[in-house]
Amino acid sequence: MNAGSAEFSLVVEGVTGRCAAGEAYAKQNIAARKIPVLACEGPCIRGEIARLAANRVARELPSHARACHAETFFVPHSAMARWVREAERVVMIDGCFLKCHGRVLQGLVAKERIVHIDALPLHRKYSDVFLMDDVAEDERTEVARRVADQIVATLQHG
Ligand code: SF4
Repeated sequence: MNAGSAEFSLVVEGVTGRCAAGEAYAKQNIAARKIPVLACEGPCIRGEIARLAANRVARELPSHARACHAETFFVPHSAMARWVREAERVVMIDGCFLKCHGRVLQGLVAKERIVHIDALPLHRKYSDVFLMDDVAEDERTEVARRVADQIVATLQHG
């Protein structure tokens, strides 16, 4: 039997202040109308592959730039959050079928503006590995490169 969770919400403690570097970076990307690329991130190898692939996608597509999912989700008054909320399109690369970050993003951005990618079927590896450190760095880089190439091709061809 598959386990599951019904829709739920979290109460998050409020926060004061802004990250100066994040504000400047996000404002620059808002002005340049860049498409934010978010990823779930390690220490899980699947999240790490998603993170590395997202970095590469943003480097290879000049119309895109990496956005910070945590600042987007947890600092709602930040320019990072505004950039993601107001972008015409948002690319979300999750590490596996659980789609953790994309499920949160759907509460902030209309579903039709999200390109939501599950990276796992793009490499089909590591079903029995958790920690990213259990996979050699060269291999992580190579797998992420192959995942990113497929995502770039998908984004370029709509
Ligand atoms: S989507 Fe998968 S890899 Fe990403 S945080 Fe959730 S469980 Fe981890």
